[in-house]
Amino acid sequence: MRILVVEDEKKVQRFIKQALEQAGMVVDTVGTVTDMLAALQSVAYDAIVLDRLLGSADSLDSLDEIRKSSPHSKVIVLSALAEVEDKVKGLSQGADDYMGKPFHVAELVARIRTLTRREAAVEHAVKDNLVAFEDLKIDLEKQRVFRGEKRIDLTGKEFRILCLLARHPGQIFSKAAILDQAWDLNHYPESNIVEVTIANLRAKIDKGYKPLIKSRRGLGYWLGEA
Ligand code: CA
Repeated sequence: MRILVVEDEKKVQRFIKQALEQAGMVVDTVGTVTDMLAALQSVAYDAIVLDRLLGSADSLDSLDEIRKSSPHSKVIVLSALAEVEDKVKGLSQGADDYMGKPFHVAELVARIRTLTRREAAVEHAVKDNLVAFEDLKIDLEKQRVFRGEKRIDLTGKEFRILCLLARHPGQIFSKAAILDQAWDLNHYPESNIVEVTIANLRAKIDKGYKPLIKSRRGLGYWLGEA
């Protein structure tokens, strides 16, 4: 998930960036409306965290332009102006969410996840025992996996891990969570079993295709955008 943080106070900007990165998101930062609009030209962000007062500018005035250049980005406005009428103004001008300052960063992370998941949930809904993500298809009933038209044979463990990731695109699963979901307690696995199984899974699923399984050391694994 890639996020653009628009904030003119360097300290707050750094703080938000750090927190979102810890949550596994890729974060770019800018401090002005001009730099924001330039950034939107080159990258399709999943969400924009938009401070309302940037120098003397009210960034709500830029919402139209943001919508035009980046129609699929979710916009979360952050502002010390957080009376009901301020929030109503922000939302009615096209923001997807509006949070008052000061804010808890955990709440910001949760709101970004909720906003971006709403669309993902519609796209990736499980229909007729079929889980689909881009050209990956999983038939849960027959336990068959396809990329495009190609059928891919997986072991039971590989299949369980792939199902776990594919049912929750973008959600990060720690090694412990994967162990918990794919191995039973009676079988005490070697310490690197998750890495080994995911390496095998990647070789079968991603080799020769656009890679879908992502990872970050110390954090975990997920399916979808970086
Ligand atoms: Ca500000």
